[in-house]
Amino acid sequence: MGLIVQKYGGSSVANAEKILRVAQRVIKTKQAGNKVVVVVSAMGDMTDDLITLADQINKDPQEREMDMLLSTGEQVSIALLAMAVHKLGHEAVSFTGSQVGIITDEFHSKARIQNISAERIKKALSVGKIVIVAGFQGQTPSGEITTLGRGGSDLTAVALAVALKAKHCEIYTDVDGIFTADPRVIPEAQKMDRVTYDEILELASLGAKVMHSRSIEVGKKFNMPIWVCNSQNNHKGTLITKENKAMEEVVVSGVALAEDEAKITLFRVSDRPGVAAKVFQTLADANVNVDMIIQNKTQTNSTDISFTVFKNELVKAMKVVKAAMKKVGATNVTCDENIAKVSVVGIGMRSHSGIASKMFSTLAKNKINIDMISTSEIKISVVVAGDKGKLAARVIHQAFGLGKK
Ligand code: ASP
Ligand code: MG
Repeated sequence: MGLIVQKYGGSSVANAEKILRVAQRVIKTKQAGNKVVVVVSAMGDMTDDLITLADQINKDPQEREMDMLLSTGEQVSIALLAMAVHKLGHEAVSFTGSQVGIITDEFHSKARIQNISAERIKKALSVGKIVIVAGFQGQTPSGEITTLGRGGSDLTAVALAVALKAKHCEIYTDVDGIFTADPRVIPEAQKMDRVTYDEILELASLGAKVMHSRSIEVGKKFNMPIWVCNSQNNHKGTLITKENKAMEEVVVSGVALAEDEAKITLFRVSDRPGVAAKVFQTLADANVNVDMIIQNKTQTNSTDISFTVFKNELVKAMKVVKAAMKKVGATNVTCDENIAKVSVVGIGMRSHSGIASKMFSTLAKNKINIDMISTSEIKISVVVAGDKGKLAARVIHQAFGLGKK
């Protein structure tokens, strides 16, 4: 008998009717001859609502109390789902993260799982029960409740699948799987049948809302197959897996658009060792995340440095950069919020050439100017004017033949 871990996100358990529907699906999986462990998120927007409520009471709540509060959302849905399974005449039992021995470090609100004993899960499975586990939560070795970061139920599910040596992990959402681009921006986007862990990690970091990144990292590390499926239908979803030869044939598998970055440029920085180090150390000290970086020597003995940061950190970034201007000899610093980053991702890039030229000539044909470029082994990103981002994503998506035929 194989074991399957299923995870249902907040939208799939948003009300009583939906919870009963999830219960039916879980029971069906069991009746097909599997042991079933189910991980659930909090109902609908409950986590956001709890955060709002806390904010009305204290603008700066202690992290311990915040985790105590947020972990209750998942506790509601596990109990209700267990009741739904009982109602349909089957055996199930719900557990919190602590009850199944999900041990994390002490970093409240972004704790990392260190160990899973899963003793109670194994015991309950062995007597034929469907086991329902609260996502997104664990406990420290000293018994404090922690949460794993927003969207952390994905991580609970994949980590449990690994700990229990499941056949695979199934992640249920309200879309049919993972798409070649965001269908709201590019209606021709298609559902992918398969995609590699590496591609998903790139797409996630490039602004495509796919799955919790750490859950993919864990899946990759332990080679756990992950299916992303729609809880409302029986369509075949997307399989996230390690790469194989056939997947390398597909040169580009997805296009991502990020509109949440801004560009900062430092002009005429002294051209001597240690200057870039100084600029980016200052930013790191202020906890600012830097994404793309470009440095270009001008004719004089100086260079211009441009880089991108998230818009919500722009004010902070500009403050520290301005303060560091003198030390690095810069003559001016400017920022531009009207930018968009468009990226293509595909493991096939490792073995195929001409991807960059195709991407750039497609942009040229559409009179879209490229402002910055960066690449990795399986990704090419360009920064263009903010109001050209959607068009750029669309024409590139089409140029690589990703749209519906
Ligand atoms: N309920 C948590 C959140 O909304 C965890 C999750 O949904 O995975 O972030
Ligand atoms: Mg949620």
